[in-house]
Parts: sequence; C-alpha cells; structure tokens
Amino acid sequence: MLVQFYNVSKVYNNGVKALNDISLKVNRGEFIFLMGSSGAGKSTLVKLMIREELPTRGQIFVASRSVVRMKRNEVPTLRRNIGIVFQDFKLLENKTVAENVAFAMKVVGADAAEIRTRVPEVIQMVGLKGREDSFPGQLSGGEQQRVGIARAIANRPLLLIADEPTGNLDLDTSLEIMDLLYDINRKGTTVIMATHARELVRNAHKRIIYLDSGKISSDNSNGEVFS
Ligand code: ADP
Ligand code: ADP
Repeated sequence: MLVQFYNVSKVYNNGVKALNDISLKVNRGEFIFLMGSSGAGKSTLVKLMIREELPTRGQIFVASRSVVRMKRNEVPTLRRNIGIVFQDFKLLENKTVAENVAFAMKVVGADAAEIRTRVPEVIQMVGLKGREDSFPGQLSGGEQQRVGIARAIANRPLLLIADEPTGNLDLDTSLEIMDLLYDINRKGTTVIMATHARELVRNAHKRIIYLDSGKISSDNSNGEVFS
C-alpha cells in the first residue's frame, strides 16, 4: 500500500469544506485518474499527500508513514518520494533542459556523480535526447512538459502526481504525454493524474476516482467514464 486516507476531512480557515470524510487506498504500481469538476477537492487531496496542507480530521499515510504526525524534518523525505508534474510546467526559464533536471537533484542533495549519470538517462527516457542544452522558451509545450516529467522522476519517486498535465496541450500532444506517463507507470512508478480530459480517460481502462463536492462519488477500477 502506498497511500492511505482514513476518514479525511479538510475545512479551510474560511469555512470551506473541501474534503468530506474521504477514505481511499492506493496500491504500489497503480495508475489512477482523479476526476471531478472545478472545486471538487482534487488539489486539496494532492496538497494533503505532500503535506502542503494538514487535514482537519482523519489520518493519511504515504509509504507507511503518517503524514499528519510526521515531524517537520521528515517532510523533505516525504516530498522526495513524490514527484509532481504541473499544468503550467513550472520550469526554470534561465536554465537548460539538463540543468532543470540536474537542479531538482541538487536540491535534494544528490551527489555530482549521480547527477551526471541520471540526467542523460531521464532525458533519454522522456524522448528529449539532443535537446539537453535548449532553454524552455525554445521548446514546444509538449517538450516542456517532457522536461517537467523528467524533473519529476529524476529522484526516482515512489509516486508521481500529475496535476492536469495536459491542460495546456492539444489532443495529439496530450496523447503523447499520456504514453509517456503510462511508460513510467509500467516501469514501476505509481501515478495519480488529476484531469478534466474525458477523452484521455475514456478507454484507458484505468482506475478512476471521481470527487464531487469533497466526496468520492465513484471509484472504479475498470476505467468506465460516468456522465
Ligand atoms: P479542485 O482542485 O477540484 O478544483 P480544490 O481542492 O482546489 O478543488 O478546492 C476545493 C474547495 O476548497 C473549493 O471550494 C475551493 O474554493 C476551496 N479552497 C481551495 N483552497 C483553498 C484555500 N487555500 N483556502 C480556502 N479555500 C480553499
Ligand atoms: P554547474 O552550474 O553546477 O556548473 P552545469 O550548469 O554545468 O552545472 O550543469 C548542471 C548539471 O547538468 C551537471 O551536473 C550536468 O550533469 C548536467 N548537464 C549539463 N549539461 C548537460 C548535457 N548537455 N547533457 C547532460 N547533462 C548535462
């Protein structure tokens, strides 16, 4: 078991109930779509997993560690185990492709030798061999998202969270990014992808968790899309 939520509720300071008594389990190796309309609580769920927010009620475990009870000095280890891919890429514009990936490893204290071997490896894995020295501004949106994914997997996380990763991409490019995420998942990384894109989820035959007003309204494992 990689992620466990037990009766988790989140009420923000302004009184908004973002999550209401959520329980769920994520097994190692799963690929999960997290769906639901805007405001349903998807981002809150993600923020709780990385301890960017604490729950108002309930318990959360990631890799068997309590995210709620963990000490401040344990948070970096938690975050190292979770790679995140953003809708708007969030790349460092004044660093090259290789430097963006290398930087993510430097900040978690990877040594120079490891960075030297790992950077070309992940760049190759995401299909950007030859673009190492390009700057983000010289890349297409799809290529920039590949850099975002390379950066997210550089430290070999147990869990990859992709928050609307295709939100700024056209359909063909989105499908290429999906293939890359499936590929990473096949190699053993658990993936949770928050998305609105029904056309990507349909026929994917993956587990889909639907959030509706802070509640799980359905959680199926055969990839059926409900309307
Ligand atoms: P989603 O990602 O599905 O759009 P969110 O988790 O962002 O949903 O939001 C769930 C609810 O919580 C919404 O009503 C949103 O306005 C509210 N919310 C999100 N973040 C905060 C915050 N930091 N403070 C107060 N309310 C918030
Ligand atoms: P620094 O700023 O520490 O001198 P660089 O800017 O030269 O480092 O590069 C940062 C890291 O990015 C290096 O550790 C190197 O492994 C990696 N790197 C830079 N350019 C390339 C490249 N063309 N191919 C693969 N890795 C690269």
